[in-house]
Amino acid sequence: MREIYVTRPSMPSKEEYYEEISTIWDTHVLTNMGEKHNKLERRLEEYLKVPNVSLFCNGHMALELAIQAMDLTGEVITTPFTFASTTHAIVRNGLTPVFCDINENDYTIDVSKIESCITQKTSAIIPVHVYGNICDVEAIDKIAKQYKLKVIYDAAHAFGVNYRGKGIAEFGDASIFSFHATKVFNTIEGGAVCYAEPQIGERLYQLKNFGIQSETIVNGIGANAKMNEFQAAMGLCNLRHVDGQITKRKKVFQRYIENLADIKQIKVNMVNPYVASNYAYFPIVFKNGNVEKIRDTVYDELKLHGIYARKYFYPLTNTFECYHGMFDVSKTPVALNISGNVLTLPLYADLELSDVDKISCLIKKIVRSDSRC
Ligand SMILES: *Cc1c(COP(=O)(O)O)cnc(C)c1O
Repeated sequence: MREIYVTRPSMPSKEEYYEEISTIWDTHVLTNMGEKHNKLERRLEEYLKVPNVSLFCNGHMALELAIQAMDLTGEVITTPFTFASTTHAIVRNGLTPVFCDINENDYTIDVSKIESCITQKTSAIIPVHVYGNICDVEAIDKIAKQYKLKVIYDAAHAFGVNYRGKGIAEFGDASIFSFHATKVFNTIEGGAVCYAEPQIGERLYQLKNFGIQSETIVNGIGANAKMNEFQAAMGLCNLRHVDGQITKRKKVFQRYIENLADIKQIKVNMVNPYVASNYAYFPIVFKNGNVEKIRDTVYDELKLHGIYARKYFYPLTNTFECYHGMFDVSKTPVALNISGNVLTLPLYADLELSDVDKISCLIKKIVRSDSRC
């Protein structure tokens, strides 16, 4: 049986990658902010329309060190409808996550509930752009200004997304991207912080390189989170093709919409008219399902046909075993409901439209319990 996975990493041709890495044999510079690394930073600043990009070995370390660079204290407002990384990055910085619910419309933070989460101890908001949908950045900006809070966006899902003509990472004090193999743009593993204040750039540079200031001065307790030259070379190649990849993703996304939008048991993910999306994921949410049943049946049935959808994001981070007894999931009822009923369908640039039709057809058969497609 031919198998279809939820995603398939984008790769340049072998020839293009060989060509890009061949100069590494002339210089023998393999890592430590080499030529490829610096070139990729500049290219990304242009592509993402941001003043500053700092590259990292992966998205998680980008987020963890961005939080550290901001010197936050106490509590941080965030959402549990995200990848493990977001919550872990907060906790690993010794901070307390305060979970705000998400909205049912696009699954990002419910901005009408942020203020009720603010206490004397709150120092920041770490909202998550999910699936390529973006948070209500204007409302968040307003609240952050009023209460003097920092804002760091987890933009791992939002590479290349533009909002009203602006790069999405222009909003907030910083945004982090993941360039993991499975993301819209990859450097095999990798990540970046886009930041507004130049001092944050200096802090980040130190934090990803052991806190070293100069040969004899180590004045920060840093980690090692540098992106190496082979990762950066992969990025330089993939960046040449990313627009084409997004165009192909859009075709797949639209085909799913055509096939599934009028199935009354399903809510499809619509794109905000002011957003130029990257079509990163195609989540469907099963409506009035007796909680997890229909979603799980569809997941299992697709698997029997060699189609690997994902229950993404499930479970919520505030229900993880490692946080047992620490958080009250009843405070985020919308997130709990969406998480129990969401399924993310296969979506990548080279997914055949005939496969999209096949997947859609299987889903329709199951939810309508008849054989029509
Ligand atoms: C992928 C992802 C991350 C972590 O990125 P890595 O590059 O895998 O470390 C963080 N947050 C979200 C929402 C993600 O999807």
